[in-house]
Amino acid sequence: MIGAGITGAGVARDAALRGMRVLVLEADDVGSGTSCRSSRLVHGGVRYLEQADFGLVFEAIRERQSLVRLAPHLVTPQRFMLTTYRGDRVGATRLRLGLGLYDALSLWRARPHAFLSPKRARAAEPILSSTDLRGAVLYDDAVTDDFRLTLSVLNDARLAGATVATHCAVASLGGQREAHRIQLDNGPAITARAVVVATGPWTSERLLGPVGARLLSLSKGIHLTLRASDVPVRHPLVFQVPRSRRLLFVVPWGTRTYLGTSDDPFTGDPRDVCATPDEQSELLAAARRWMPAANLELDRVVSAWAGVRPLVSAGIPGNTEELSRSHRLVESERGVLGIVGGKLTTYRAMAEEVVDKVVAMIAPNAPNAPNAPSGWRACETASRPVVAGEPLRPDEWSDPLIRDLAPRHGPTSRDLAARARARPDLAARLVDDLPYRAVEIEHAITSEGAEHLDDVLRRRLPLALADPLLGAGVARQIATMLVDHRGGTSREIDDELERYRVRVRQETSRELPAVAEPAPPLAMCR
Ligand SMILES: Cc1cc2nc3c(=O)[nH]c(=O)nc-3n(C[C@H](O)[C@H](O)[C@H](O)COP(=O)(O)OP(=O)(O)OC[C@H]3O[C@@H](n4cnc5c(N)ncnc54)[C@H](O)[C@@H]3O)c2cc1C
Repeated sequence: MIGAGITGAGVARDAALRGMRVLVLEADDVGSGTSCRSSRLVHGGVRYLEQADFGLVFEAIRERQSLVRLAPHLVTPQRFMLTTYRGDRVGATRLRLGLGLYDALSLWRARPHAFLSPKRARAAEPILSSTDLRGAVLYDDAVTDDFRLTLSVLNDARLAGATVATHCAVASLGGQREAHRIQLDNGPAITARAVVVATGPWTSERLLGPVGARLLSLSKGIHLTLRASDVPVRHPLVFQVPRSRRLLFVVPWGTRTYLGTSDDPFTGDPRDVCATPDEQSELLAAARRWMPAANLELDRVVSAWAGVRPLVSAGIPGNTEELSRSHRLVESERGVLGIVGGKLTTYRAMAEEVVDKVVAMIAPNAPNAPNAPSGWRACETASRPVVAGEPLRPDEWSDPLIRDLAPRHGPTSRDLAARARARPDLAARLVDDLPYRAVEIEHAITSEGAEHLDDVLRRRLPLALADPLLGAGVARQIATMLVDHRGGTSREIDDELERYRVRVRQETSRELPAVAEPAPPLAMCR
């Protein structure tokens, strides 16, 4: 398996659960590509109804419903509000028809949508501008933590026997069917019976040969984080962007609100994608029209993130908004499989299709065939919880420590809370108004594979996205813990800080503030 975004993680988990020996090779950190840069919605995609992509919407709603059940602490159902203003592409009547179809595609298992008059829409969401408001619909979808979902899926693959090697890029592929040769960057070659390339926006002819050329159209999207007090919304809000097919989402995120996204053709290395100041201003200006009372000034922006969508190309350059969000499974001349496109929401179904194809390639009559490797099982991911362990009971959520930890750690928060209760310094919040606790740092380093400062502060405890100091207040202490853990030298602490500074600047267009030292110590639990 090449690539540990949500797609690679999903394939690795499904294959490992079926009894295959799986190795995952990831060039950077788990989920560090597009899978930590999405709008964080697990959704059917109301927008795709307009493109008449009913198959995709049906599949995405089905997957949403199954993820709410199988990853309850990571995928939270919410009532979304989609507005219609005068001049919008989709007016009140079409909106009601469209959402009626959305209800039908969920086989009426979700709460039906409700249409709100302008007056009722404003009563439910006072931040909305009343000028030209024609009404709104409330409908069910879900929000997630994209990185945590990816990490949890990969962790379950590990529990099922997969081996995961991060910071381990694949340079080239050779060999032939059932005897592939995987050449690592600065490393040995590995042989494998089957190879799946899930390298998201990095997918090219380098690993897939001619079939990988011009497979993708890349599209960039940015998001901004603001304080909830500046943009106080009660529901995830959805606005129709004029003169485009795009929707703008404004999503409550604890003491923060984030908004996005854009959809612009992208060229270059996806690792260098950046939310430029101009793009940030443009997004704020667009949002002001619908929420004039919100504090949407550039200097109120807490942070930003940017990502590149690996969309299946239609072969014509230009507008990426119109491109389908469906996935495509391809096979190279040497029998290497490549999986591109799709959505975070549909990763499980995509993985099932890929692993079915692997089975068909290397053991066509499995699991009962004489040549099938012993112990292969059928796909289990449609019914197996993503995170093992007894789900938290409602009464456990009343504990403030659990309340902070559970949305990221689910059942594991019991153990983390117990450790924090025994060591009050580990119970401390890293930033007063954010739910991240000191005990999670040690957990990130010892149990979640964090190797670098950005692995901790951009993804596992995303202060880079939510803290006005971008994590600078704890960066040196965490860098010290990371370097101590790997037995490095004090010089590596400064290297870590510099690497983090560069990555934050690259993605957010912001400078990491200088923070007075020494700050309070954070220690590993021994
Ligand atoms: C702005 C934006 C908003 C989005 N919003 C949503 C949303 O709300 N809901 C939704 O369902 N979907 C959303 N998506 C889509 C979703 O995020 C992507 O479809 C999904 O994350 C793609 O995952 P992936 O695993 O295919 O790619 P990635 O996450 O990019 O993973 C590819 C991995 O391959 C690794 N890699 C690359 N080359 C090599 C190599 N040579 N060797 C080893 N490893 C390599 C990379 O480091 C990377 O980790 C959004 C996307 C964007 C950009």
